[in-house]
Amino acid sequence: MMSQTEQIRIRDYINGEWVEQNSSGSVPLNNPSTGAVIGEVPMGTARESRAAVAAAADAFPAWRDTPLPKRMGYIFAMHRGMIDAKEALAQAIALDQAKNIAEARGEVQRVIEILEMACTIPALIQGETVPGIANNISGRIIKAPLGVFCGVAPFNFPALVFGWFIPFAIGTGNTFVYKPSTESPLFMQKMMQLIHDLGLPKGVLNVVHGDREVVEAWYEDEDVAGVCLVGSSPTAKAIAEGCGRNGKKTMLLGGAKNFMMVMEDAPMDQLIENVLISGYGSAGQRCLAVSNIACVPEIHDEFVERLLQASKNLSIGDAMNPDLFMGPVISRNAKERIENYIQLGIEGGATLTLDGRNPELAAENRDGYFVGPTVFTDVTPGMRIAQEEIFGPVLSVMKVGCIDGGLRMIRNHKMGNGACIFTQNAYYIEKFINEADVGMVGVNVGVCAPHPYMPFGGIKDSLVGNNKVQGKEGIDFFTQNKVATVRVISPQDAAGKDQAAAPAGGEVRSCVAS
Ligand code: NAD
Repeated sequence: MMSQTEQIRIRDYINGEWVEQNSSGSVPLNNPSTGAVIGEVPMGTARESRAAVAAAADAFPAWRDTPLPKRMGYIFAMHRGMIDAKEALAQAIALDQAKNIAEARGEVQRVIEILEMACTIPALIQGETVPGIANNISGRIIKAPLGVFCGVAPFNFPALVFGWFIPFAIGTGNTFVYKPSTESPLFMQKMMQLIHDLGLPKGVLNVVHGDREVVEAWYEDEDVAGVCLVGSSPTAKAIAEGCGRNGKKTMLLGGAKNFMMVMEDAPMDQLIENVLISGYGSAGQRCLAVSNIACVPEIHDEFVERLLQASKNLSIGDAMNPDLFMGPVISRNAKERIENYIQLGIEGGATLTLDGRNPELAAENRDGYFVGPTVFTDVTPGMRIAQEEIFGPVLSVMKVGCIDGGLRMIRNHKMGNGACIFTQNAYYIEKFINEADVGMVGVNVGVCAPHPYMPFGGIKDSLVGNNKVQGKEGIDFFTQNKVATVRVISPQDAAGKDQAAAPAGGEVRSCVAS
């Protein structure tokens, strides 16, 4: 197990080397389970950002021209490397991001599956040819890389977001600059060492640590073709504005506030199991965590009683302990924000049926950032706790008369990441799939995270722009449909039309114009 006593120094990785930043300060890296400082993270500036982009730009031509099987060889090797290092990578996530170790292992496993999807790139970037557009002229579409892409990660999925961006970007022939969250940089430090050891050519992948200053430097940088983010909606909008001013391509996944609909025929045992995983897994810090539960009156009281019973029994504590269900939230600020929302819920008129503030903890975790399972009932859609993203283990239960009422709440909400329904009724299922105004729908599953073969992303404020991650859409983002119009000149035509220019001895050459 990773030691928590030795101080960790997070470093940038630029142009194939680990480098110390010297133009900037640093921020402490905490273990949220104990509150202890376990290291420090450099706060990069435009200078480090520029150096990383320059390295990526220099590396691009040779990487683009590297034969596809050789490029894919690195992705295969990353896949193998992740399988071998699975436990160490999961422990890195459980230490600084403080997702319970069992969930951290699940996150690494999901990235291994994403890498398997990325290995289909050679099949999915095959172009098209339209022959016979005119005499001897054909049209070709080539899925071409664009140059340097830059990516920004949130704190809550340090491995997953690496998987969403990097294999697709570099597998399609681009080079990349990545900025992890300052709150959970450990996974990428370990992953980058693994990739370095594979001998990836220098400059193809670069990592810079810091906050918005690093990102803002990309907006004006002529070498940057596009920027991708997974983060909150305000950050997605800020990046969209900066990139929009300068014509950069963007793929920006924003925040979430996910609904679950509970119908009268919901299978109760499965429902409760799924609410616990979805609402309290990762301490509610998941973009697909359920937050608002719209329940029909026929089942409401039984559901609330079972939910309370199950929520009270959940174990909380150190993220490294596999026997516990839930770890802490990411920071002291996050804990205070969530506690403020609990107070807002009370003041707004909701009933605090289970209060997660000040949960019981082992002595060594008392300075950690813990909020226990929290349940509000009598919530109405206009309340702030129902409208705003709390990003913590807080559930808001609302009564709703019928499926149309629930669908209306979903439609009227400004975010639209995911929503799910628990029912056995085929009519409800079809209606919900068709009408729920979100990007990802679940039926009798609490976390409706699409498999890596399919696109992942929401609508409305949960996705700024159009591009989703993963699947074919993930590949499309990192390529352009370059079109070539090709005329083939036959030897006879060349000879007939330009006798004078024909080479001595009557020899003719064909020529191809593109
Ligand atoms: P955040 O928006 O605060 O930060 C995300 C990243 O953006 C960080 O690396 C940060 O340094 C950088 N950043 C912050 N402000 C910036 C600015 N003004 N300009 C440029 N960069 C900036 O998000 P967070 O707190 O790290 O992560 C949680 C958020 O991410 C939640 O809103 C959650 O819903 C969202 N999220 C969404 C998805 C999804 O699939 N839609 C997945 C995971 C997380």
